[in-house]
Amino acid sequence: MMRIETKRNAAQFKASLANSETVKSLEEALAECQNKGMRLSRQRRSILELLWRCEQHLSAREIYDRLNQEGQDIGHTSVYQNLEALSSNGIIECVERGDGRLYGHVSEPHSHVNCVDTGKILDVHVELPEDLIQEIEARTGVEISDYRIDFYGQEKQK
Ligand SMILES: [Zn+2]
Repeated sequence: MMRIETKRNAAQFKASLANSETVKSLEEALAECQNKGMRLSRQRRSILELLWRCEQHLSAREIYDRLNQEGQDIGHTSVYQNLEALSSNGIIECVERGDGRLYGHVSEPHSHVNCVDTGKILDVHVELPEDLIQEIEARTGVEISDYRIDFYGQEKQK
């Protein structure tokens, strides 16, 4: 493990909650499906609508449960197959966790804040200072094209 320390105040680093500026809208996701030649079945559309509406990372089981609670007739297999197709085409995000996969509506590169108490995952957009990236590249000999950071912690008491 390489240890890289950042100088305090050396450079600005930007962090913001992933929001409408960095994240594609539901309409854009639907258009992307069509551009990629993916059929927009009623089931596929309702999965996308759910993910964009609740803005959380959900398991296939949770997605199945929520859609059926809403009175939508959609089978297990259909949920799994649609999630697989949508994530492998880069329309939605798939997060591998020890206890299974979770799906989210942000497919652009982003970082996660993980609450260890509730298991909740929050999407954040973090931009590291350019000199830090250059230092990592210099030490590893790898040209960085993308990065995702996982933050862990507990919710602050209010
Ligand atoms: Zn995410």
